Amino acid sequence: LVDRTALIAGNWKMNLDHLQAIALVQKLAWSLKDAKHDFGEAEVAVFPPFTDLRSVQTLLAADKLSLVLGAQDVSPHEAGAYTGDVSASMLAKLEVRYVLVGHSERRHGHGESDELVGKKALAAHRAGMVPMICVGETAEDLEQHGAAAIPLAQLTAALAELPADAEFVVAYEPVWAIGSGQAATPEQAEEVARALREALRDLRDDERAAATRILYGGSVASQNVAGFLRQPNVDGALVGGASLKAEEFSRIVQFKK
Ligand code: PEP
Repeated sequence: LVDRTALIAGNWKMNLDHLQAIALVQKLAWSLKDAKHDFGEAEVAVFPPFTDLRSVQTLLAADKLSLVLGAQDVSPHEAGAYTGDVSASMLAKLEVRYVLVGHSERRHGHGESDELVGKKALAAHRAGMVPMICVGETAEDLEQHGAAAIPLAQLTAALAELPADAEFVVAYEPVWAIGSGQAATPEQAEEVARALREALRDLRDDERAAATRILYGGSVASQNVAGFLRQPNVDGALVGGASLKAEEFSRIVQFKK
C-alpha cells in the first residue's frame, strides 16, 4: 500500500491554453528546483485541461521534472461513439497518474450522479491511474445535515464501483469553500477527514484506511496551507485558483508545517 506522502495537487480548471501551460510549468520548475521540505519531498501534481496534457507531458519528460500529471475528468466508457469524451486509456498513454472524479463543478454544473462518478473512478483505475474522488457538502447541506454526512455518502457511492484493492485518493472540498476565498478552518477539515478515514475502515479495511491520502480543497493559499497539513488526517491539498500563479503555487508546495 502507498504511504501518505503529502500530495499537493493544482487543478487549473478551464484556464491556460497549451502555450500558457508550458510557460507556467517552466516557471514552476524553476522555482521548485531546489525545494526541500521539512516533511520530506511532497508529491506535486498539476491538472491541466485536456488540450494541454500532451505539451505538459513532453515538457516534464524532456526536463526530468518531478511534477506529476493529473487530468480533470475522464469518460466512464472505454472507446467508441461518445462524442466529446476522453477515455482513460488515452490519458494513461500521456502518463497521467491521477484523475479527478466528482469535482463539485462536474457534479453541480454537469449534473453528474454518484453512480457516474463511481464509473469514472473505475475507468481510471482500470487504465492504471489513481482516481482522486472529490466529495463535499454545499452550504445548504451543511446547515441541514452537518459537514460529514454528504461527503460520506458520496465516498460510499463512489467506492461501491471500485474493486477492493484499488488505490484512490479522497479530496474533501466543501462546495462553499471552493473559489470563495472562504476556506474551512483546519479543525473543520480535520473533523471531516477523520470521519472519512473512519468510514474507510468499514468500506475497505484498517490497512487501506491508514494508507489512503485525504486532501483538503477550498480556497487553499500559501497563508493557510500549513494549518491544514498539520492536521493528522489531512495529507495534502487540492488547490484551484492559487495553482495558476507559479510563485504562489511554489510557496504552497514548500509549506512548512
Ligand atoms: C478546486 O478547484 O478544487 C478548488 C479547491 O478551487 P479553489 O482553490 O480556487 O477554491
